[in-house]
Amino acid sequence: MITRSPIPLQRQASTPATGAWQAQLAGAIRDPQELCRRLALDERWWPGAETGHALFEVRVPEAYLARIRPGDPHDPLLRQVLPLGEEAEAAPGYVADPLEEADHTPRRGLIHKYAGRVLLIASPACAINCRYCFRRHFPYEENAPSRAQWTDTLDYLRADDSIHEAIFSGGDPLAASDRQLAWLVERLEAIPHLKRLRIHTRLPVVIPDRIDDALLDWLGHTRLQKVMVLHINHPNEIDETVIDACRRLHDAGVTLLNQSVLLAGINDDVDTLAALSERLFEAGILPYYLHVLDPVSGAAHFDVPDDAARILVAELRKRLPGFLMPTLVREVPGETSKTPL
Ligand code: SF4
Repeated sequence: MITRSPIPLQRQASTPATGAWQAQLAGAIRDPQELCRRLALDERWWPGAETGHALFEVRVPEAYLARIRPGDPHDPLLRQVLPLGEEAEAAPGYVADPLEEADHTPRRGLIHKYAGRVLLIASPACAINCRYCFRRHFPYEENAPSRAQWTDTLDYLRADDSIHEAIFSGGDPLAASDRQLAWLVERLEAIPHLKRLRIHTRLPVVIPDRIDDALLDWLGHTRLQKVMVLHINHPNEIDETVIDACRRLHDAGVTLLNQSVLLAGINDDVDTLAALSERLFEAGILPYYLHVLDPVSGAAHFDVPDDAARILVAELRKRLPGFLMPTLVREVPGETSKTPL
């Protein structure tokens, strides 16, 4: 099981709530049987849910739960969060660190794989635990800097003027408090060669109330250009509350992009992918990447073979204008960018 404590930012995710989104974060479902009961799944799902939960704990906030159809074990949102017994099955080629990130961590909380940009682990916590997550085994305990350690990490950025972009990742970076994020952004802004702040997050989707005035305050006032890459895999994830959150981000000058993972039984059909692109654009989000699954142990049952993925994308291209087409990619360890399929 992933245990993401004791870590300062993890504690923030579970300390007594001080606002709407914090309360929702703290109140997320963390019991697999409760998840099954709340969604009227019969008892045959319980043993598998317990098995998967023991490997990677279940976590589902209420705002996301509300978009899942009760009584339907095949609901595409449920499939993303329901632990299954298959997660305990070993599969050839599936490993704990499929992207070999441990080899690209020169400072605590910093991953430097690509030219011109670095990734900062701004929070070890997530609001939701996605069963296919390539970081489901990530050693957050070793990569969550204290404030003093952030100084060393920021020195790394300061010393390399080829770095123009800082990417907040996690966990989910927006699971950190606004105070923590504003502190970090203030220091990034002071590095003259940094131009952009990119934030990879699922929080505006799973708890749309996260996009509140406190967040928009620091985000709206930074000199850095702002890009937010949302992680949305199915059109049912985008309800009116998500659209409203996206509108607020857009008004604060944030460019919104989306990356999806191609997941067997969830979005591996042309109708769903076409509806996803259309729905994203209605929310003001441009489709960006469609990733094939990273081979992380516990997630092999989500795999879509490359040939099937290529056929899907070729069919999708017949349906959509070019600007709604995500690029089908794979992340290959050691490559200097994502690899188009
Ligand atoms: S929110 Fe992102 S980092 Fe967290 S479990 Fe889901 S995919 Fe992984």
